[in-house]
Amino acid sequence: MITVIGSINMDLVVQMGNFPKQGETILGKDFQTIPGGKGANQAIATARLGSEVTMIGCVGSDSFGETLRTVLQQEHIQTEAITSVSAPTGIANILLYNNDNRIIVVPGANYELKPTQIEAAKEIIQKSQMVIMQLEIPMETTAYAIKLCKEANVPVLLNPAPAANFDVQWMEDITYITPNETECAEIFGDNIEQVLEKYPNKLIMTLGSDGARYYDGEYPIHVPGYMTRAVDTTGAGDTFNGALAYALVEGQSLDQAVYFANIAASLSVEKFGAQGGMPTLGAVYARMA
Ligand code: ADP
Repeated sequence: MITVIGSINMDLVVQMGNFPKQGETILGKDFQTIPGGKGANQAIATARLGSEVTMIGCVGSDSFGETLRTVLQQEHIQTEAITSVSAPTGIANILLYNNDNRIIVVPGANYELKPTQIEAAKEIIQKSQMVIMQLEIPMETTAYAIKLCKEANVPVLLNPAPAANFDVQWMEDITYITPNETECAEIFGDNIEQVLEKYPNKLIMTLGSDGARYYDGEYPIHVPGYMTRAVDTTGAGDTFNGALAYALVEGQSLDQAVYFANIAASLSVEKFGAQGGMPTLGAVYARMA
């Protein structure tokens, strides 16, 4: 069983012909509510591949919270450890105009995920084969969860986004960390080669369509991405992380697991929406064949 500790959001996406100026009201062209949040996305990516997944997080006691819980349940994810709190469900208000976007994230309920809730879910964590985390929850909660996993000998896969919520002190206790290039530079600085060497078989840097890199203790390893026509790269990283966790828990070597994750993520960029494009196990194997 894999446990995901993290954010659950509703994305409110408005397509418009122009951005409104200060004090101006304009008519938008289209509006969609799309389930998201890195935590929920990674939980779905993992579950779709066939893992048994439990999600720990918070939603509001509102209709978005209900909807998002149902979405997770439809993906066969255990939702008993998701708490409904009085803060509103987390949202991302996404304004789209041509290739430009403006995004406001209101963490809401996600920032009500406190160490006490992690402590209450201790048994779930202790039974897990791996715990996946991102950083869209309070830092004290991430720190607490990492400590608990360490004590229970449960491997942690940390996707450090947003990078501002990362504490470098966590490096010792986590098993894998998967920044993209921007996050990697933000956390570790620009001397990427040295940084990869410092954290062999732990730091896996994703490179968009180029795949991912890490250092195996002896050599730098580049696992190339699968070339495809990308329609929407939202959720590529989330699919990569879910698939990496799945493959590692299945006992694949890091090299194989990164290859598997690249293939899964390449399938996700071929469809619109973060969760919409996440592949099943059959689809990943079909592409590998
Ligand atoms: P993030 O989505 O977190 O910014 P990346 O852009 O590095 O992270 O993408 C994560 C993974 O998704 C990559 O390692 C790769 O496997 C896959 N990926 C991303 N963009 C593409 C693309 N255009 N074509 C194929 N695979 C992609």
